Amino acid sequence: MKSIVIHAAKDLRIEDRPEETPGPGEVRIAMAAGGICGSDLHYFHNGGFGDVRLKEPMILGHEVSGHIAALGDGVTGLHEGQLVAISPSRPCGHCRFCREAMYNQCLNMRFYGSAMPFPHIQGAFRQSLIANAIQCAPADGLTPGEAAMAEPLAVTLHAVRQAGPIFGKSVLVTGCGPIGILSILAARRAGADLIVATDLGEFTLDMAKKAGADVTINMATNGDDLAAYSAEKGTFDVLFECSGAAPALKGAIPAMRPGGTIVQLGLGGDMQLPVQAMTAKELSLKGSFRFHDEFFTGVSLMQKGLIDVKPFITQTFALDAAIEAFETAGDRSKAVKAQIDFTKAA
Ligand SMILES: [Zn+2]
Ligand SMILES: [Zn+2]
Repeated sequence: MKSIVIHAAKDLRIEDRPEETPGPGEVRIAMAAGGICGSDLHYFHNGGFGDVRLKEPMILGHEVSGHIAALGDGVTGLHEGQLVAISPSRPCGHCRFCREAMYNQCLNMRFYGSAMPFPHIQGAFRQSLIANAIQCAPADGLTPGEAAMAEPLAVTLHAVRQAGPIFGKSVLVTGCGPIGILSILAARRAGADLIVATDLGEFTLDMAKKAGADVTINMATNGDDLAAYSAEKGTFDVLFECSGAAPALKGAIPAMRPGGTIVQLGLGGDMQLPVQAMTAKELSLKGSFRFHDEFFTGVSLMQKGLIDVKPFITQTFALDAAIEAFETAGDRSKAVKAQIDFTKAA
């Protein structure tokens, strides 16, 4: 079985690993599609992010779908050949936060492809994966590529939940990478009225338009257009900050209306906060980190045709072209979500 292993920054290798057999309650999945995430790119380009550093080789990847190849004892509700989206969220189920159903805060989380704990949690970019049956969302009717979008979609559905009621509200999205684009889709689905999206690149802003943003603003060339939303103490009820860049957050504060909510999704390292301005406007700041049950909601919304992620899968590479895939995935002039097709390998 081939897998995509990061050894250090810029040292990505395709390696053979032994196949495993599913135990009770588990399934073996023949991987079909895997999306390259911002965190995978941080490991690829920089060997980690913030305090999180690679200390041993790690299989990357957590945005995956595949077909059930074998069922372990006692598994019901899934069948061989079925397409499933695989949730990378694997909380322990018995720590204090799991007991409070705050699964994304689990003390013993084993999220695929994460160097946060040591030993690192090995990821899902491999041709064959053993997973717990309860991680699998049946994805009948979707393409493998769509099913592999369930993970980043879940991130944004969780963020919408963090924002509180959004029906009829005005929403600003800063940063139109994959999470920004999916935040636009999720906010619209939740009933947002006005959606304005900002970024520094024309390609990503075109994609934001395609996702349904009412207005897009290129902050590199037309930053004044955002200032127009700052009149009379501001416009936006909710900000989804998806860039992780301090200037994006700082620049958005004047356009927030008093009492508004900032939902921070971007993990770009530590950011300076304009606390004075936030205090005077009584803004709330909420973090949003991963997801849990939203994963299954996302698959369901896609199956019903209520969220269409297909236009945002911009490239698909064969497994053997993994390095090219990683180089392309971070290129915001042409990629929203680049995926790997695990069925295509020499
Ligand atoms: Zn991801
Ligand atoms: Zn736990």
